[in-house]
Amino acid sequence: MLNTLRRIIQEVNAAQNLPQALAIMVKRVKQAVAVETCSVFLAAPHTQHFVLMASDGLNPAAIGVARLARGEGLIGVIAETAEPLNLDNAPDHPRYRFIAETGEERLHAFLGVPIIHHRKVLGVLVIRQRARRRFDEDEVAFLVTVAAQLSGAIAHAEASGGIDGLRGTSGDETRYIDGLPGAPGVAVGTAMVVYPPADLDAVPDRKVTTDNIETEVATFMAAVMAVQTDIQALSERLNPVLRAEDRALFDAYRLMLGSDSLVDKTVERIRQGSWASGALRETVNEHARIFDEMDDPYIRERAEDIRDLGRRILVCLQKGKRNQPPYPDKTILIGEEITATTLAEVPHEKLAGVVSARGSSSSHVAILARALGVPAVVGADDLPVARLDGQEMIVDGHLGRLFIQPSAGLRAEFARLEREEAELTAGLAELRDQPAMTTDGAHIPLYANTGLLADIASSLNSGAEGIGLYRTEIPFMVRPHFPSEEEQRRVYRQVLESYAPRPVTLRTLDVGGDKELPYFPIEEDNPFLGWRGIRITLDHPEIFLVQLRAMLRASSGLDNLNLLLPMISSVTEIDDTLALLERAWRDVTESGETIARPRIGVMVEVPSAVYQAESLARRVDFLSIGSNDLTQYLLAVDRNNARVAGLYDSLHPAVLHAAMQVIEGAHRQNKPVSVCGEMAGDPAAALLLVGMGIDSLSMSASSLPRVKWVIRNFSRAQARDILNEALTLEHPAAIRARVNERLMEAGLGGLVRGGTQPASHTTVGY
Ligand code: PEP
Ligand code: MG
Repeated sequence: MLNTLRRIIQEVNAAQNLPQALAIMVKRVKQAVAVETCSVFLAAPHTQHFVLMASDGLNPAAIGVARLARGEGLIGVIAETAEPLNLDNAPDHPRYRFIAETGEERLHAFLGVPIIHHRKVLGVLVIRQRARRRFDEDEVAFLVTVAAQLSGAIAHAEASGGIDGLRGTSGDETRYIDGLPGAPGVAVGTAMVVYPPADLDAVPDRKVTTDNIETEVATFMAAVMAVQTDIQALSERLNPVLRAEDRALFDAYRLMLGSDSLVDKTVERIRQGSWASGALRETVNEHARIFDEMDDPYIRERAEDIRDLGRRILVCLQKGKRNQPPYPDKTILIGEEITATTLAEVPHEKLAGVVSARGSSSSHVAILARALGVPAVVGADDLPVARLDGQEMIVDGHLGRLFIQPSAGLRAEFARLEREEAELTAGLAELRDQPAMTTDGAHIPLYANTGLLADIASSLNSGAEGIGLYRTEIPFMVRPHFPSEEEQRRVYRQVLESYAPRPVTLRTLDVGGDKELPYFPIEEDNPFLGWRGIRITLDHPEIFLVQLRAMLRASSGLDNLNLLLPMISSVTEIDDTLALLERAWRDVTESGETIARPRIGVMVEVPSAVYQAESLARRVDFLSIGSNDLTQYLLAVDRNNARVAGLYDSLHPAVLHAAMQVIEGAHRQNKPVSVCGEMAGDPAAALLLVGMGIDSLSMSASSLPRVKWVIRNFSRAQARDILNEALTLEHPAAIRARVNERLMEAGLGGLVRGGTQPASHTTVGY
């Protein structure tokens, strides 16, 4: 059964579109359980119906036609209960509804299982048999497993437009995919798919124009020739050491490379208008699938050989240039995983939005998008990346939603929101030189988070009163080895100088977890609970002392250095760090140079630090709440895992209570507290933090004007009032809704979503 299941899933996942995937699914399931019919009903998103989308055994003319209203029939029962229904005689069931078109009256036994994705019933998979019998436990388990395994593929295919043909009602409907809000703002633009090199499955669909077809064919043939030459050379080199049967492998490769099937089929696809890499992906997958289905394990292995050859040809196609078309004017960068470097490659004036299938609102792609002021949707794990290149789309970074090929009405609506947002940003620019002061005169300094030298200009322009978090790991990541003391000193000096006399908070090296140095790999089962941040630097005093000395030297004569320690989970780590710092300070001052002692801060980003906030505060000058990690550890939600990202919310009551406890603990020691996680840049969260008595906030430069607007519109007493109200609520969503309401009542609706008005695009049909 396991083999059958594996093969069904492989075949369905390789299907071109939803109808094909479903046709394969019903055919294979029917064969596997030897029944008379197997069918799939899917919920049509815009009508209140379940529609027969595929069937093996029922009248083919009923496909796409037969439908049941939601709640109707046995399909309705399964959708309501989200559980299998196993009946020996379906017509006896009180909810049974006969659907004339399907011609199913001769059938008695019935087993239906729900197809569920992200808690939502997408449809129902049904098998029927003429005989009266109940399906046994194994059959039920098999069907449940098929449905569970395939629900992702169905959601994916639906998102790529699979059940479009069935909507047909208004013609003004737009498909959308939900992810998570990554960076606020909305953008209308054209998708540009970025994908990792040498990965056939990641190659997107792309068209070539008729004029370029012959060039594309020639490029492909040259790549095939190059691989042929490589294989020849490899086989000659290894000939003396290989046995005759192993040498046969190279002959098989050469044969495949010369075969009509691989080469001619790809050329045919190019001639039909596909670019070479996309045509190659299709041909290789088609061939590999045939071998995958073989029972003989030796022959099945040949699928890997074909994929290997495909990868080799792809590498040749990608050599030198990545066949990257020019970035469209309003590029929406889309990928399975968007890295900082791919984001940085797009000319800033062309980058309109970012969409990543992975990640969550606190992963580094979202942080970078916010730093650049570009709307982003992350964690959109149903994103059919390969099918989106060149398509028109809308990114709604407030809602975390991506609209594909939007209707004219929706495009116009979002273009309006985009304009309004630009006006809001321009309006807020006037606040640049105004203090971040509550209406009752409490000054709450706003600082910028940074880590890229290129950010300095935008941070300065945002009106930040200093740097509240400089992530030093970035200069470490862009070098092939640990930077020397002098290299580090120069980088830190530039930042300290740009801001002097305003304070600059340099955080000591915080690698581990999801931040890797290419030259210092760390292999661990649980990297977020492992060797990270201060734990690494304390274990490597030779690296830590170099960094501390570089920071101290860089501050010479400026005296604006604050030093921040990441991932502190016990007071011992502070005591050990202070001892090392003392040593570094003696090293740099023994030559007679006068260097002021920096102010020392501790990041509170681990639950243990919350409970020991007062003890930590007693030892240092300030605390800074790292809400990104603190939320992750308090809620036990990996900040980068899209599957659980819906659970990640810094407005969770537990996070709010933790922040209050930290502030109270530090204040008992007369020490100030800042927040430097992404929570600080969220207008709703910032208002609650003000209510808690936070002393300063540090955020992406692009969030700063909005937060300043909030602070200047409320008094501390009002913020406390809103906080008290929020604390009576038990759900993060309810807290957000209530605080947003208060923002809107105060005329700050533009912060809650794009534009200066609350959302109205829900009136458009989609
Ligand atoms: C945090 O954890 O909140 C934080 C600011 O640090 P980073 O995002 O770099 O882990
Ligand atoms: Mg952190």
